[in-house]
Amino acid sequence: MKRAVAVIGAGPAGLTLANLIQQSGIDCVVLERGSRTHVETRPRAGVLEHRSVTMLESHGLADRLLMEADRHGTCEFRVNGQAFQVAYSDLYDDRLHYVYPQQEVVKDLIAAFLDAGGDIRFSVSDVELRDLTSSHPTVDWTSADGVREAVTADFVAGCDGFHGVSRPSIPEGVLTEFTHQHGIEWLAILAEAPPSTKAIIYALHADGFAGHMLRSPTVSRFYLQVPVGTKASDWSDEQVWEALHKRFALHDSNWALTEGKIIEKRVLDMRSHVVEPMSYGRLYLLGDAAHIITPVGAKGMNLAMNDAATLSRALTEFYATGSETGLKTYSDDCLRRVWRAQEFSQWMVNMIHTDVSSPFFGRLAQARLEHLAESPAYRATFAENYVGP
Ligand code: FAD
Repeated sequence: MKRAVAVIGAGPAGLTLANLIQQSGIDCVVLERGSRTHVETRPRAGVLEHRSVTMLESHGLADRLLMEADRHGTCEFRVNGQAFQVAYSDLYDDRLHYVYPQQEVVKDLIAAFLDAGGDIRFSVSDVELRDLTSSHPTVDWTSADGVREAVTADFVAGCDGFHGVSRPSIPEGVLTEFTHQHGIEWLAILAEAPPSTKAIIYALHADGFAGHMLRSPTVSRFYLQVPVGTKASDWSDEQVWEALHKRFALHDSNWALTEGKIIEKRVLDMRSHVVEPMSYGRLYLLGDAAHIITPVGAKGMNLAMNDAATLSRALTEFYATGSETGLKTYSDDCLRRVWRAQEFSQWMVNMIHTDVSSPFFGRLAQARLEHLAESPAYRATFAENYVGP
C-alpha cells in the first residue's frame, strides 16, 4: 500500500492531523493499537483551550463540541480554609476553556475522518517503522485479522503517545531527552457525582493538594496529591472521600462536596518529559510521543492538537509548493509552545502542592497563592498562561 502519510495512533494528535491533511487532499492511513470502542470510551483529559477550539471550528470539526461543551472562565483556589476565585477569561481577551471529555473529541474526530472517506485500521499490533531517513519510509503492522501488512509513505507521523513505538524507533543518541519527576503523584478519581462547583477548584492543604475538575453534569474528576510509590489499591473509596472532604473544607461556608460512585481510581506519575528535536528523517513526533506534561494547567491535549495543526500546515505547504520550510521548522515551532507550557505547569505545580518532606516549599506555595489572591498583575499573567497564549 502507498500513502502520502502514515499516521501512527488515533488519539487527539493523530486524529486531528489525519482530518486536517485529508481536508488538504493529502491521503493517509491511521494505524491504531486499540479497538474503536476502546479509544472512544477512554476517559482522560477534558479541557480544551480557546485556541484548540478555534482551530477545530475553522476546519468544521467542532459542531458537537460547540453545542455541548461547558464554557469556563473562572477557577477557584482554596488555601487555609479560605476560597478565592480568578476570573481568567475577563483578564485575557474573554478567552474561555471548553470542558468536553477527550473521548468525545476522539469520537467526533473519528466520525469526521471516516465520513470523509478516511482509512483507520483499529486493533493493529506489532507496528514497525523502517527506512525513516529515506524518501520513502515504511511502516509494517499486523492487522486485526492477523495479516502482516505494510504502507510505504512520504512521511510518518508518530502520534502514538508516550509508550508508543515511534520514539523508540529513532536511533539512540539522536534525541536529547529532558525529564523531571516532580516528587509527587496524583491519585486520579473519576466519580459518578454531579459537580459540587461551577468552577474548577485547586486546594492547597497541609496533607497535600486536592483538585475538583469538571467533566459532565453527572461525572466529576478529582485529584489527590499522594506520595511517590502509592498504589491506587492503597486507597479505599471511603478514604478518598474523607480526604477530599478534609482538603476542600472551608471555614465559614456551607459549601458541601457531593459524593458518588467511584468508577476509576488510578495513580498518575507526575513527570515532565520533552525530546528534542521532534523529528528524525521523515518521521515527525506529535503530542505525548514527544512531550509529557503534568495535568496541572490542562495543557496535554491542547499541545497535541497544536503539533497536529503545525505539521498539517507544513505538509500542506510541501504538497502545494514543494517547500520544506515548514517541515524544517516544525520541531522548533512546536517546542517553543511546549516549553512555555512546561514552564507554566511547573510554576503552577509549585503553587498548589505541599512538599511534605520540606515544609519550606509549602510556605512558598502559600505565599504564591496569597500573591495571586492580592495582585491584579499576577492574576493577569496567570490568566494569559492558563487559558492559553
Ligand atoms: P494519546 O492520546 O496517548 O494517543 C496515542 C494513541 O496511540 C492511543 O490511541 C494509543 O492506543 C495509540 N498507540 C500507542 N502505541 C501504539 C502502537 N505501537 N501502534 C499503534 N497505536 C499505538 N491533558 C489536558 O490537556 N487536559 C487535561 O485535563 C488532562 N487530563 C488528563 C488526565 C489523565 C488521567 C491522563 C492520563 C491524561 C490527561 N491529559 C490531559 C493528557 C492528555 O490526555 C494527553 O496529553 C493526550 O491524550 C495526548 O494526545 P496524543 O494523541 O498525543 O496521545
